[in-house]
Amino acid sequence: MSMRILIAASEAAPWAKAGGLGDVVGALPRAFQDLGASAAVVIPAYKTALEQVSNREVAARGVPVTFGPWNLDAEIWRTETGRGIPFYFVRRDEFFERSEIYGTADGEYFDSRERFIFFSRTIPEFSKAIHFKPDVILANDWQTGLVMALLDQGALPETAGVFAIHNLGYQGLVPPERISHIGLPQRYYNMEGLEYYGQMSLLKAGIAYAQAVTTVSPTYAREIQTAEFGFGLDGLLRSIEDRLFGILNGVDETQWNPKTDIHLKAAYSEVDLSGKKRCKKALLKEMDLPEDLIDRPLIGMVTRLVSQKGCDLLLESGDALFDLNIGLVLLGSGEEKYERAFSKLRDRHPRSFGLTIGFDESLAHRIFAGCDLTLVPSLYEPCGLTQMYALRYGTLPVVRATGGLNDTVHDPEDGFRPGTGFKFEHFEKNDMLRAVRRALSQFEERHGWHSMVQEAMAQDFSWRRAAGEYLKVFETAIRLRREGRI
Ligand code: ADP
Repeated sequence: MSMRILIAASEAAPWAKAGGLGDVVGALPRAFQDLGASAAVVIPAYKTALEQVSNREVAARGVPVTFGPWNLDAEIWRTETGRGIPFYFVRRDEFFERSEIYGTADGEYFDSRERFIFFSRTIPEFSKAIHFKPDVILANDWQTGLVMALLDQGALPETAGVFAIHNLGYQGLVPPERISHIGLPQRYYNMEGLEYYGQMSLLKAGIAYAQAVTTVSPTYAREIQTAEFGFGLDGLLRSIEDRLFGILNGVDETQWNPKTDIHLKAAYSEVDLSGKKRCKKALLKEMDLPEDLIDRPLIGMVTRLVSQKGCDLLLESGDALFDLNIGLVLLGSGEEKYERAFSKLRDRHPRSFGLTIGFDESLAHRIFAGCDLTLVPSLYEPCGLTQMYALRYGTLPVVRATGGLNDTVHDPEDGFRPGTGFKFEHFEKNDMLRAVRRALSQFEERHGWHSMVQEAMAQDFSWRRAAGEYLKVFETAIRLRREGRI
């Protein structure tokens, strides 16, 4: 019988997306299906998610969930994609009927831990309620880390747990006065378990109790085992090195393909790039930038505005960047201090800086298509999808050589011919500007530029490859679970 996989996550495109996690969870089930496995997905029933689902039905009512000292219940909604992949939504309106997924510009929702503790606790219960016994549950990031501890506790004895780290920087810390909400026996609250410097970490629950742990690129799998990138969990990660796998994310070709993208003014491909120029022209107009930028390099960025993404580095370099005679287009949302600072920078450079604050899926596509370069100066980057989308759209990335950015971009300076982008090593303004300047000189050298664009567009980031690697990890996890070794 084919392997049955349940993916539990806080995001899944197209229903709920705040970043790369949503893209991954949206695309993986189809790739599993292509390889003969069957996958279902479960996410919270956010207000905006449920509103988008037209053919939905109630799959279960009154699913009993213990939550701290309370007995609550959950309602489970279900829809099916055109390919017959079930998506389940855990409904409990006091937790999820809100305008945003995680919080507002003022910060995370005050009860964010409780929302996802409740969600995690619902997962084994709803599996029982609908008589769906997965061979493996793939949980993702801190929001579903607790599921791994629940499996360890025996919640679904025949189900293995695999935990995927999409970002180690978010720990899901629960302060001592709220520990009772987690609801695990005392033996889990120690250094081998959830304890993390006097608090409890839901992320650590995922790492400590899964049969196998994955992260989203080979370089990040190595980096998180070091003190610099390990957020205090590097020791634990080193201790499970033989069960820790770096699997590079893929690109969802049904959504991100310049030949078929419904969001673009014109389609194009590596053999005929004329449509790309039309996309650039249309983008300049849309962003209210002068037409003469058409012949100058246009740099695009689509990003959460948080320190991890290098916002400070960018702001520090701001004026010097514009001295290079470029145009910049930035689409982002996040922390208010960055939103304000970028607005100020735009006011100083209105003729070369197009800024949109907000989350806009369609504009994101037009930016990757209409720009010449993308800049990803991250402090750390587990995988990073924007540079991969940019490559598919023939937009060359300038990136910091970290995590998945390091794995997906090939710099001519490292001997790649022709190469696909430009890297810098140090999280430092001058190093970044040096890489941007290298990109700009390449832009002037049209023949070499064209070869790089073609090479970039030919990169294979198929989900099929990634899904195959996940299936191997799942087999290992299932075996370890059966043998009762972990
Ligand atoms: P992360 O998951 O850390 O945010 P990734 O690069 O892995 O970073 O994924 C980011 C995803 O979110 C991409 O699909 C990107 O296009 C999208 N994205 C980020 N910010 C925005 C925004 N303001 N509007 C539209 N899409 C965005």
